[in-house]
Amino acid sequence: MSVAEVPLRTQIIAVTHALDAAGLVPNKSGNVSCRSAGGFLITPAGVPYRDLKPSDIVELSMDGLPTTAGPRPSSEWRMHAAIYARRPDAAAIVHTHSPQATALASAGRGIPAFHYMIALAGGDIRCVPYATFGTAELAESAVRGLKGRRATLLANHGVIAIGDSLRAAHAVALEVENLATQYLAMLSAGLVPAVLDDAELQRVVEKFTDYGRLAK
Ligand SMILES: [Zn+2]
Repeated sequence: MSVAEVPLRTQIIAVTHALDAAGLVPNKSGNVSCRSAGGFLITPAGVPYRDLKPSDIVELSMDGLPTTAGPRPSSEWRMHAAIYARRPDAAAIVHTHSPQATALASAGRGIPAFHYMIALAGGDIRCVPYATFGTAELAESAVRGLKGRRATLLANHGVIAIGDSLRAAHAVALEVENLATQYLAMLSAGLVPAVLDDAELQRVVEKFTDYGRLAK
């Protein structure tokens, strides 16, 4: 573990603690990663978030090989590797099983662009078909769902959020859960969402960029 990586490892742990405290990673689900000098750093398999130490965070090369001997990486490392390979704009990835978004994903429902905050995700959020956890098939599915977006739902599974920093990916993951909560409230009230058009979403993206909401 290089000394230069300690702040990144500490930041990953801080994001897992915040997700855990917010109830977005029930029963040790989910995982967090960010790019590093040797590839990417990712949370390990099977260590409770509250017990994580910087040395528990695993560094993998972009081919998914460990750069040093140590703990096993999260079983979803393939999904992270595939996203980093195909999305140069992704510097960090947050994967959750956040309850409201996972409820929608378990019905195969994405989230329409009914609220301007969805611009944080780049537009409406797709739900991609189910594939077994940890497989290359799921990794491909996630990459497809993220096309032109910073978030996607994974059917019968959960959420993937990406960003140009850990803070940004974390913010997208939080917003997806917030939007899912609003959407489920509309569905349970029998309401049909009024969807914003692409021109308005584009305007919001530009305003977010001005305000630094989409910056590091
Ligand atoms: Zn998962």
